Amino acid sequence: MCGIVGAVAQRDVAEILINGLHRLEYRGYDSAGIAVVNNKKQLQRVRSLGKVQELENTLEKQPLLGGTGIAHTRWATHGEPSENNAHPHISGNFAVVHNGIIENYEILRHRLQEKGYIFSSQTDTEVIAHLIEWEMRSSETLLDAVKKVVPQLIGAYGMAVIDSNDPEHLIAARSGSPLVIGLGIGENFLASDQLALLSVTHRFIFLEEGDVADISRRQINIYNRNGEKVERLAHNANIEADVADKGQHRHFMQKEIFEQPTALINTMEGRLNHDSIIVESIGNGINEILKNVENIQIVACGTSYNAGMVARYWFENLAGISCNVEIASEFRYRQSVLRPNSLLITLSQSGETADTLAALRLAKEKGYMSTLAICNVAGSSLVRESDFAFMTRAGVEIGVASTKAFTTQLVTMLMLVTAMGKLNGHISVEKEKLIIKALQALPKDIENALGIDEQIKILSEDFAEKHHSLFLGRGEYYPIAMEAALKLKEISYIHAETYAAGELKHGPLALIDADMPVIVIAPTNDLLEKLKSNIEEVAARGGQLYVFTDRDANFKESENIKVITMPEVNNITAPIFYTIPMQLLSYHVALIKGTDVDQPRNLAKSVTVE
Ligand code: GLU
Repeated sequence: MCGIVGAVAQRDVAEILINGLHRLEYRGYDSAGIAVVNNKKQLQRVRSLGKVQELENTLEKQPLLGGTGIAHTRWATHGEPSENNAHPHISGNFAVVHNGIIENYEILRHRLQEKGYIFSSQTDTEVIAHLIEWEMRSSETLLDAVKKVVPQLIGAYGMAVIDSNDPEHLIAARSGSPLVIGLGIGENFLASDQLALLSVTHRFIFLEEGDVADISRRQINIYNRNGEKVERLAHNANIEADVADKGQHRHFMQKEIFEQPTALINTMEGRLNHDSIIVESIGNGINEILKNVENIQIVACGTSYNAGMVARYWFENLAGISCNVEIASEFRYRQSVLRPNSLLITLSQSGETADTLAALRLAKEKGYMSTLAICNVAGSSLVRESDFAFMTRAGVEIGVASTKAFTTQLVTMLMLVTAMGKLNGHISVEKEKLIIKALQALPKDIENALGIDEQIKILSEDFAEKHHSLFLGRGEYYPIAMEAALKLKEISYIHAETYAAGELKHGPLALIDADMPVIVIAPTNDLLEKLKSNIEEVAARGGQLYVFTDRDANFKESENIKVITMPEVNNITAPIFYTIPMQLLSYHVALIKGTDVDQPRNLAKSVTVE
């Protein structure tokens, strides 16, 4: 779900609104729009397909003056991305912007059409505008009308409404999609994320589920879902306007590791109901594709490739769909055989990775059924050139070694797998509930995992003098071990190899000696007993083992086995969770070695060359 910004002020607000939209661009969107009430009490609206910059260009030629306004970046769920479908939607004197999905929009649309309303877009949102116009006919105020509309809506929404006849008020309502009121002096603001308003205020009131708020220049009245007037506390902003600021952290990488709980909340926002996935939130028209896909081809590089490797286990285990994963620089030069009904999924933090882009272009020539980009940068080449894009919303990542981009990719993929399994009948309603529960618990789980930082810091001293290391895992933990090894290589320059633990006896066991630390990711799961045997094989040959596990797995410490016991976590999301101690380990080893953590030698953040 995308962005909402609103304002009631004495000064002209168009620039503030546009600035807010720019700050929300990272979330991904396909069109944008703004409506402002001028001093003649007229609604003026400008919308455009594409970037906020387009909207800004139009506004330069045709400025919108006025102190009350709303603006939106849209991520189409109902109706194609187009100027006509972009928000705000207008009915009579009322303009509405909406994040989310109105699930019962068809019934509402039908009823409104019977009453004579003419629809000018294909969106679900337009029903809200007409409903408000209708209810206003029997209401005293816009607030009353919105309060009557809200119980008629099923689905997820955050919305803002203005009335050109009464520009003193901006009405907001939230259910399933966040909204925050920004407090000014003699002016007030609204946004779907506090980030949008940091240039005008640092004081915020967070609306709660079911709240309706009446925002005017000098007053704010909030009503809960029972219609009772409530007080909500104001908070000072807990983030800085400048994302390129390390805050209290020593490195961007450390900041980004610790930002992961928030990043994951952003990734999931508006994409999950309390017990199911909102499939449409992946993209307009994706249902048909996901229903008919028989094969998945994932193409990516580096960390994104490792994320793809984890997803392969999920696609096959959970959704019963065959899945191949390939390094982009290989895929693009290989005569791969296209299987029928194949979906190409590309993964890239920047969306500008040259090899991945080339692979996408090649796949389009080959005639894949469809292409989907999983990406962190809205408007990047990969997003523009793919049929669908599912944004990871990690926020800006500055550290060259990816951390939050990886875990948000994993969460994005798990949501996609769940949507697919639900549509193809592999994931039952019960199973879906379990996955959603695990996903919703994950930000808190990750916070718990971060609590192990001090312990890892001490442990990292064992590694600083080493020249080689070996990472082991099985199942989904094999690619998690690959990512762990990649992190260590990238920032500490220690040689790190990864093996699927069952492969050890086929060669790499020869490497084992007391100088070779062996890191094993070994939570309780179906493969644990097999993994335990692999660990014994290493211990018997004098290897020094570091086993990351949980209490239930029941590992015993010994002279050459160190056990790091992690908090309990749901099996489904555990691979994401076990990424955290691995990130911390490489970070602390690099700190001891004194390397340039954020800009490791020889590496670039966005690899735009072949
Ligand atoms: N469902 C609405 C639409 O398709 C809003 C999408 C959004 O959250 O941007 O227009």
